[in-house]
Amino acid sequence: MYLSLGNKKDVVSFKKALFTGLAPDKSLYYPIEVKKLSDDFWKNFKKMDTFSLAYNVLTGYINNEIPKENLFEIIKRTLDFNFPSVLVDKNIYSLELFHGPTMAFKDVGAKFMSACMDYFIKNENLNHKITVIVATSGDTGGAVANGFLGIDGVDVVILYPKEKVSEIQELQLTTLGNNVSALEVDGYFDKCQEMVKKTFVDKDLNKKLLTSANSINIARWIPQMLYYFIAYRDINTEKSNLVVSVPSGNFGNLCAGMLAKKMGLPINHFVASTNENDTIPKFMKTGEYKKQKTISTITNAMDVGNPSNFVRILNIYNNDFDNLKKELSAYKFSDKETILGIKELYHKSKYLLDPHGATAYLGLKKYMANNPKGIGLFLETAHPIKFLDTVESALNVKINIPEHILKLKKKKKSKIVIKNYEQLKCFLLSR
Ligand SMILES: *Cc1c(COP(=O)(O)O)cnc(C)c1O
Repeated sequence: MYLSLGNKKDVVSFKKALFTGLAPDKSLYYPIEVKKLSDDFWKNFKKMDTFSLAYNVLTGYINNEIPKENLFEIIKRTLDFNFPSVLVDKNIYSLELFHGPTMAFKDVGAKFMSACMDYFIKNENLNHKITVIVATSGDTGGAVANGFLGIDGVDVVILYPKEKVSEIQELQLTTLGNNVSALEVDGYFDKCQEMVKKTFVDKDLNKKLLTSANSINIARWIPQMLYYFIAYRDINTEKSNLVVSVPSGNFGNLCAGMLAKKMGLPINHFVASTNENDTIPKFMKTGEYKKQKTISTITNAMDVGNPSNFVRILNIYNNDFDNLKKELSAYKFSDKETILGIKELYHKSKYLLDPHGATAYLGLKKYMANNPKGIGLFLETAHPIKFLDTVESALNVKINIPEHILKLKKKKKSKIVIKNYEQLKCFLLSR
């Protein structure tokens, strides 16, 4: 079903890939086969409801390991909010992916992953506690914590960098309690990620059944395809003229869009929009991949210098650089430009962008300036309220805070401060 991109003879089931995250050689899993959707599917596509659409797209990747009724239940549980495409400018749509519980697009992947694990734990009587451990630069932690909250048999441990996440992001991580522990790390995101990786090769922790919930996990990655299918269904576009711009950090979301295309979704062109962490825009110019040191920006969820999912993109394009170039453009934007982007669209159509969505909007405009035909869609990956300070100071306005956020602000934060790997290990062993 899935093979390791490091060793193509290492083939595992969906369940195995779900519970291990990474292959033993630390490379990523990838579906052995990407099947085209049937003519029948396309005949009904435009009027298909979201759950059926999702079932048709995902079922091939689960390969009967979860029975049909259960998979349908998982899908219903995962997609219990809306994904509207909103017209914000002439021929430009914003695909709003922030209507979920933690107001960022990662909710879908996190909910799907937790629901699948929940299914296997309940139905196969695993009687050992599983620890899901995850490093976050902001949005992943909240989405994963929320997805796994209250699931029996799973302990969630989240590492986040001190003072590098927004106020609301921190509240979302630290106020859940129950089976969720938040560890504040004295250092940058990279340090958190390093520490998480170290736990997987630490022999003393072997018995703990650790698993990662970062976007490299196929159960978080694959369902992101649905955004592209849903948007294509909802937008009135003639065949093959849709351009999609994706704000990118670890490149899982964009990569899922490309997988959707491989299944037959007729997207004409992709734009990868990044912040100053421009490893991929540089790669698209030179063909040479050079990982970079991470730079902190106002789009913190995209502060990644060595995007893990890019190898999957190369695989989709059979490592053919010229082919990839035909279908992908990549641009970087500075914080200054991003703030100008927020201002531009607000003054034009009173539409509020979060900084991540703003880079995607700018990338789309840049591409469409030279390719004006067609319909543009950018992915608005977080609610602007999550980045309140940046958005308010860019626009000089006060934004109304929704009720559920005000409630969050009244809750008490609960976190454990750790300085180094030894302290993390102690914490895990004590549980
Ligand atoms: C995670 C995240 C991104 C980047 O997505 P990748 O799949 O890592 O490229 C963009 N915007 C927001 C708001 C995010 O949380």
